[in-house]
Amino acid sequence: MQIKKLFTGVVGVAGVCLFGSLPAKATARLQTWQFDTGQNRFMFTTESGVQPQVSLLSNPKRLVIDLPGIITDEAVGDQLIGGAVQAVKVMQADARTTRMVLELAPDYQLDPQQVKVWGLTDHQWVVQLPSAIPLATPTAQAKADPSPLPPLLSRNQVSYMPVALAATVIQGVQTTPNGFFMPVAGAIPQVQIYRTRDAHQMRQLVVDVVNASIPPQLTPEALPHHRYGISRWAVTQFRTLPPAVRIALTLDATSPDWQVTLAQGGIVLTPVGVAAPQIATAPTTVVLPVLSTAQVSSPSQPPNPTASAAPQPAPSSTASIPNRERVVVMLDPGHGGADPGAIGLGGLQEKGVVLAVAQQVAATLQSQGITVRMTRQGDQTVDLQPRVDMAAAAHATVFVSIHANAVNMQRPEVNGLETYYSSDSGLALATVIHRRVLSSLPMGDRGVKQARFFVLRRTTMPAALIEIGFVTGATDAPKLRDPQWQAQMGQAIAQGILDYLRGGR
Ligand SMILES: [Zn+2]
Repeated sequence: MQIKKLFTGVVGVAGVCLFGSLPAKATARLQTWQFDTGQNRFMFTTESGVQPQVSLLSNPKRLVIDLPGIITDEAVGDQLIGGAVQAVKVMQADARTTRMVLELAPDYQLDPQQVKVWGLTDHQWVVQLPSAIPLATPTAQAKADPSPLPPLLSRNQVSYMPVALAATVIQGVQTTPNGFFMPVAGAIPQVQIYRTRDAHQMRQLVVDVVNASIPPQLTPEALPHHRYGISRWAVTQFRTLPPAVRIALTLDATSPDWQVTLAQGGIVLTPVGVAAPQIATAPTTVVLPVLSTAQVSSPSQPPNPTASAAPQPAPSSTASIPNRERVVVMLDPGHGGADPGAIGLGGLQEKGVVLAVAQQVAATLQSQGITVRMTRQGDQTVDLQPRVDMAAAAHATVFVSIHANAVNMQRPEVNGLETYYSSDSGLALATVIHRRVLSSLPMGDRGVKQARFFVLRRTTMPAALIEIGFVTGATDAPKLRDPQWQAQMGQAIAQGILDYLRGGR
């Protein structure tokens, strides 16, 4: 029985979205596929563009991904994976269609709304299964065979983003006889350590390095592979203010616990109990977005963010937010992936600017103990209906979409802030955010307006869409591309959301 087609149609907003149907050649081949158990996602690449059809079937429970216009050279029987996805099959469904079947564990509860499908490009796709997986009760077989996760092509991950100058540049990771060494250039790194668990309850060690960056040439392949019981390295650059780098190590059962020490030349990781030189560190000044549903076991809440020199109004943080622990803010950075959004002066792309701003909004809100979800965390193509669906599935308290504006290039004199709402419930949210941004940053006021944008119309919670300036504007464009201004904008939007949650009108 087919329960639901998961990949929905395409709807544009404001005339700047570039989604479209993609032509399929019958001779194009499936090139690679891979299931990343660490991220609980299935990835594949094809020779040419494809529009995958994803369906969830029951009895037995399985996720079927059909690739119209794609053929495969090798039919693959059960490739055993383990965990929520027990096996993957690849076959030729008909002369023009490749079918990939993910066999799901019988006790794996999968809400079809939470399966996300997106294209990194039109021939590189990700099928993301929800990360909040109830641990499957071990089967008799699993008990008898506690083998580690199967080795995958590259489970490591590096998420690079250009950032403003950072005090410390982390150059890579080296394996040493005693553990690992991360050489750095510049200042002695400031780090914050968390011990947590990933979606599979695997132990994780998370090292946040403040005022730091990574070089663009750092690749997943350059990170250690399965050394000392570390099954995965994930290095992520954040465009916070100052920028920061998160290094997350997934520890398998054989790994010791690790301690982190700092030296002039870098960061030293050694098994707990092994002596290493100690250097006191300065207090941390930035809070990074929490990436997953994993529970941070220590320390409790990170300290207040912002070493920012931003002219920021003091948040009235003493006023309480009703039901703070149940509040969920859904942030929606516009566009992404194949859809750059508006393109402005000097080729400035809306999708990158709004993601950086949204990441800062998330970091600021999370530092106040607010749960944040994002419709995209990186440069991914995400359709509009899934954005609405994500907000509904998360039971979001508010939905805030972040965009940048554009007119034609011959109108550089058009600049300023606009905030939109659709229903009455969004008016107060839009007004409060708009007011807070204008009081925090010098920019033109183009008003709070009503518009029937898709994500405002289809969401059921109070929703606002903020256009943070014109990528085509002579005044706005240089600010929009400035990481420091992006961070200030993110903090101002976050303060506006907090104003609203405290009951502001
Ligand atoms: Zn937009």
